[in-house]
Amino acid sequence: MIRVSHLFKSYGTGENKFQALADVNLDIPDGSFVAVQGKSGAGKSTLLHILGCLDDFEKGEYFLDDVNVKNLKDGKLAKLRNQKLGFVLQDFSLINHKSVLFNAMLPMFFNTTPLKEMKQKARNALKTVGLAEQENKTASQLSGGQRQRVAIARAIAGNPSILLADEPTGALDTGTSKQIMELFSKLNRQGLTVIVVTHDDTVAGCCNRKIIIQDGKIIRDSPNGEG
Ligand code: ADP
Ligand code: ADP
Repeated sequence: MIRVSHLFKSYGTGENKFQALADVNLDIPDGSFVAVQGKSGAGKSTLLHILGCLDDFEKGEYFLDDVNVKNLKDGKLAKLRNQKLGFVLQDFSLINHKSVLFNAMLPMFFNTTPLKEMKQKARNALKTVGLAEQENKTASQLSGGQRQRVAIARAIAGNPSILLADEPTGALDTGTSKQIMELFSKLNRQGLTVIVVTHDDTVAGCCNRKIIIQDGKIIRDSPNGEG
């Protein structure tokens, strides 16, 4: 459960100060499938970085499952991020010369999961995204859509409750984008909260709720199907 109230975020100081988010209020219940849509520069990535506990903010409150994120020190914040959140980016961010299995295991090297359990979790995740047969290939041997599936497996392997995706289809063609959105939809039906940042109408239309950001403000927040 995400609860954001009166959130403000700016970059720079003095004359160069730029207000990237201004008074953002947002509730995202568990099990949501949400698109955050808006033009380039609207503040989508800034919001996603804050929701992902990757960036701080100067004013307002952010509760993640009743934890007040603002009060957490770096170590606790990293732990919360590790436990609850998975990230998917536009450019996949895989290590291309490493195997699919290694890539899917990667974030778990930063916690204390035993190797055997890491492998098992990564394999389960690869199965979920339909890549069980490809685990020994290197990432560079895969197509764009398959690479994004590996990135999704990597994001869900640690069993997060929320998946944050920043333009996950930005580097993919229309057909492949649709398949990736179908995969997100499947994961959502299995209980995962999925938040997708996109500038693309079709991609946003695959989600159950659409939040539109413009100039750092939410200008619209509605269930899909109601425009
Ligand atoms: P979006 O993801 O919607 O394209 P961003 O959240 O990346 O928008 O950026 C919102 C605004 O904040 C843009 O005008 C961008 O140039 C500015 N911005 C983002 N990051 C920084 C930064 N680190 N320093 C200064 N300005 C930034
Ligand atoms: P995304 O592809 O996620 O929208 P961007 O390309 O907007 O990311 O930004 C990439 C990085 O550059 C981010 O770390 C962001 O904070 C930073 N950034 C974006 N806009 C600016 C800016 N105007 N000045 C300084 N840094 C920026």
